[in-house]
Amino acid sequence: MKKADILIIGTGVAGLFTALNLPEDKSILIITKDICENSDSFLAQGGICVLKDESDYESYYNDTLKAGHFENRRESVEIMIKSSPQIIRDLVSYGVDFERDENGFVYTREGAHSTPRILFHEDITGEEITSKLLAAVRKKSNVTILEHNAMVDLIVENGECFGVVAKDENGSLYNIFASQTVLATGGVGGLYVHSTNYRHLTGDALGVCMQHGIKLENIDYVQIHPTSYYMANHDRRFLISESVRGEGAVLLDKNGQRFTDELQPRDVVTAAIRKQMEKDGTAHVWLSLRGIDEDTIRRHFPHIYEYCLEHGVSLPQDSIPVVPAQHYFMGGVWVDSDSKTSCKRLYAVGEASCNGVHGKNRLASNSLLESLVFAKRAAKHITEKGSSAVIDGALEDKYDRLLKEKHDYFLLRDDYVSVMRSEIEKAREAHLNGK
Ligand SMILES: Cc1cc2nc3c(=O)[nH]c(=O)nc-3n(C[C@H](O)[C@H](O)[C@H](O)COP(=O)(O)OP(=O)(O)OC[C@H]3O[C@@H](n4cnc5c(N)ncnc54)[C@H](O)[C@@H]3O)c2cc1C
Repeated sequence: MKKADILIIGTGVAGLFTALNLPEDKSILIITKDICENSDSFLAQGGICVLKDESDYESYYNDTLKAGHFENRRESVEIMIKSSPQIIRDLVSYGVDFERDENGFVYTREGAHSTPRILFHEDITGEEITSKLLAAVRKKSNVTILEHNAMVDLIVENGECFGVVAKDENGSLYNIFASQTVLATGGVGGLYVHSTNYRHLTGDALGVCMQHGIKLENIDYVQIHPTSYYMANHDRRFLISESVRGEGAVLLDKNGQRFTDELQPRDVVTAAIRKQMEKDGTAHVWLSLRGIDEDTIRRHFPHIYEYCLEHGVSLPQDSIPVVPAQHYFMGGVWVDSDSKTSCKRLYAVGEASCNGVHGKNRLASNSLLESLVFAKRAAKHITEKGSSAVIDGALEDKYDRLLKEKHDYFLLRDDYVSVMRSEIEKAREAHLNGK
């Protein structure tokens, strides 16, 4: 059994930034299913959006709503955009280095953005941000991180959460009690055969919340990225960032002909690629970077350049075989604008949560920002309003006993995966049938 004032599940940007914004006199325990570096946050390539000046507010707001098919929660979009300059200042204060020139920050552009407003660090923006946040968290004496420890259930009594049931690296189960619990378990890519996500991200926060009747939202809103590197057999698909198309790369069919506008929202480009693959009877289409000079490719996309070279594709003269893959989850555990779930003492942040920012479809490079903004708000709410829970011997004894009696926890864990997969499918079908 373990105890902490605040318990955070997950070490992506959302979990780490929550920890960094909590008071230093609170004991914080973070558990994470794999090693800290294995989170989708480390994989983010393209960049992070920011409101670069007030004159861009309307345009940024409208682009986010348009990409989200106007199903976005307006309040959340407003909060995210208005908070973005401060979030970037926070990141810079942790040592995050964004591309600059003599005039200051350099902004790039991705699909469905009317103007360049994305900050980046080469094509490894996620690694740059997350590694700096992780280093800052590791310096904090009030924070403990346990790697290879996974949440398998929540401890919920009468609508209040008092922590989680966890599995340690030897497979033993134990209880963690906390006054506040924050779910930051990321997306659902591990449920899919083809995904750009880490395989261990299997929507666990959704699984446990569903088990306890905690509200979920839009669980059929799964984003497919149009351009992942095609391979016949590959586990996690390598992403070819949208900003490559933003810089001028074009999609080609089997005859080398363009067949769509590459800068439309992701779902529209994905649909166009699928249609073309079906028409051509091919397993992928091609992405040509011939319109971008080699220096720009090497400078802006060095990791994509290297990856392609390792796989026998020399840019820009060769084209990249690309195929759509599951990429992002817009739905999640329902939260309000302070990242509170429908269960007392339980918060959800990052991709595991749904605060409605993305609506039906995420605008490129909004997710790192959204994760950071709403993680900070969760921390603020916990700091200002989070009361200490009464966790007495009776409660501990009850859950220790349950742990010994409930031998089906491992089954339960496996169940989440299949249950979540079928729930997402059911919700999608119901939606398609207009129910
Ligand atoms: C290839 C790729 C490129 C991307 N590019 C961009 C981009 O350019 N810009 C952008 O804004 N967004 C991008 N995204 C999306 C963005 O990276 C994610 O949405 C964001 O990082 C999510 O952060 P998170 O903290 O919520 O989750 P994650 O970073 O995925 O972290 C989840 C954490 O939870 C842990 N965890 C999961 N289940 C459990 C459990 N049961 N118990 C304990 N721990 C658990 C995991 O181990 C992990 O530490 C990209 C995503 C991918 C996959």
